[in-house]
Amino acid sequence: MRTKTIVPITAEKLASCGKCRKCSLGCPGHIDIPAMLAVFCAYQTGGKSALLPIKDFHKRGLPIDCIECGACTDHCPKRFDVRAAMKELAIQSLMR
Ligand code: SF4
Ligand code: SF4
Repeated sequence: MRTKTIVPITAEKLASCGKCRKCSLGCPGHIDIPAMLAVFCAYQTGGKSALLPIKDFHKRGLPIDCIECGACTDHCPKRFDVRAAMKELAIQSLMR
């Protein structure tokens, strides 16, 4: 049974990310989640220009490849809400 609350990602919260990469292990979208979360936080504070690095991920998983399975959050010791971050990045990337 899940007992820990899912934590919305902010730049402040992401500072406690241990870069353990447990979130990326088994991601069906093959997304480099820690790297993408760094982009997400830069976007939150810096706006749409911070989304430019996403094009460098074109041979790996992109936010749009997220199928919202939630495995990342299940494996994350911080219980970060990766799904919400990927969804926002996918929407904003498509709107650029
Ligand atoms: S599993 Fe959580 S703490 Fe570990 S790298 Fe991913 S986001 Fe950071
Ligand atoms: S919710 Fe998205 S980012 Fe997380 S493991 Fe599933 S496909 Fe990957």
